[in-house]
Amino acid sequence: MTSKSKLVGCAAGLAVLAMTLLPTALAHNDTKPDAGQETLIHAGTVMAVPGQRTLTGVTIVVKDGKIAEIIDGYILRDGATIIDLKDDYVLPGLIDSHVHLSSEWNPNARLDGVTKESGDTAFDSAINARKTLMAGFTAVQDVGGPPEIFALRRAVNSGKMVGPHIRASGSAVSITGGHGDAHGYLVSITDMMRPETVCDGPDDCRRAARLAVKRGADVIKITATGGVLSNTNAGTEQQFFNDELDAIVEAAEKMGRKVTAHAHGKTGIESALKAGVKSIEHGTYLDDETVRLFKQYNAVLVPTVLAGMTVVDWAENTDWLPPNSRQKALEVGPQMQDMLRTAYEGGVKIAFGTDTGVSAHGDNAQEFVYMVAAGMSGEEAIRAATVTASRHIEMGDKIGTLEPGKHADIIAVNGDPRVDISELQDVDFVMKGGEVYKHEE
Ligand SMILES: [Zn+2]
Repeated sequence: MTSKSKLVGCAAGLAVLAMTLLPTALAHNDTKPDAGQETLIHAGTVMAVPGQRTLTGVTIVVKDGKIAEIIDGYILRDGATIIDLKDDYVLPGLIDSHVHLSSEWNPNARLDGVTKESGDTAFDSAINARKTLMAGFTAVQDVGGPPEIFALRRAVNSGKMVGPHIRASGSAVSITGGHGDAHGYLVSITDMMRPETVCDGPDDCRRAARLAVKRGADVIKITATGGVLSNTNAGTEQQFFNDELDAIVEAAEKMGRKVTAHAHGKTGIESALKAGVKSIEHGTYLDDETVRLFKQYNAVLVPTVLAGMTVVDWAENTDWLPPNSRQKALEVGPQMQDMLRTAYEGGVKIAFGTDTGVSAHGDNAQEFVYMVAAGMSGEEAIRAATVTASRHIEMGDKIGTLEPGKHADIIAVNGDPRVDISELQDVDFVMKGGEVYKHEE
């Protein structure tokens, strides 16, 4: 499931300019502490390194956007701001490794693809980024979508806009007629909508990977198999030839980029892993043999069960999915919970990811419930969304744990999420880079 393709406008720059004029709801607020100013968080229970170290009754000292120290007991210092989280469970900001901030599926989504201007997409992306942050997700990887994501990444990173840390791929590398190509409109329209990263043959696919890097990709996303929401009946198995996969991975590596592969079918997952892809998105039809390959290549799985559950719900309870997508939804969706169980029990490294943009932005934490239902402990699911996801998105030195020197990306909930994982669907406190964005009692 990748983002729908859309007409690529050249107004992204204008949209960014317009967004800086937005009211503070979307633009940056004025609560940022001054340089050198200390914030002392009195924290009750702290999952400092999820899966390893739980602290109780500590003060997290935040200074210049980073965690400066973690000190036993509740200390006070002259001039410092105190935040009382003594009754709360405090953990690193959550990380969603698979989102599509630019859009959200709805009955009119296919029309949106040919009616929304670049500026509309940019504004929607900004609103979705804010929702994501407020839900406790302080970092995301956006894997597939129009180029406005790069403008949003710049705006958030430079402090103009409110949102999580963003890593982005831009449009996915796909074969002609593949999951990342445009489908289901007049030929003249799909030809015009064809993303510039659609490629055929090793040379052309090298070009596509290089172009993705040139456009701003932090990571190269490929659509290794068909997908549910592309309006074509081309199935969900391997789509690239092996020499094309090799070419993409090698071209990406030469420019310092990892490749992540959307893949449902076993043939697509396994061919991608053998070509050196570092992670698989979805992984629907993996089996024990595939699990062995994941471990052999030390690859990461991003399961996105929430997306599977969402498309099944639409297929069963609505009438707006095109027939091609409805059929694939009914085939793929119900497999995903079992897929995660197989992968987890087989010892595959799992990074949290939701494919949000299929489901609604801000509902990302629903994935945790499915992870626990598939057999993971609450603590393991949290580790997947912090420690493992931070490494997977190549930000492990900056985020993913609460340790001195890392970004002060900190969230809190009222109840113990290791006992009741649904606590993470109601995050009460959100700090990103030392700045408080949300604090409810
Ligand atoms: Zn996706």
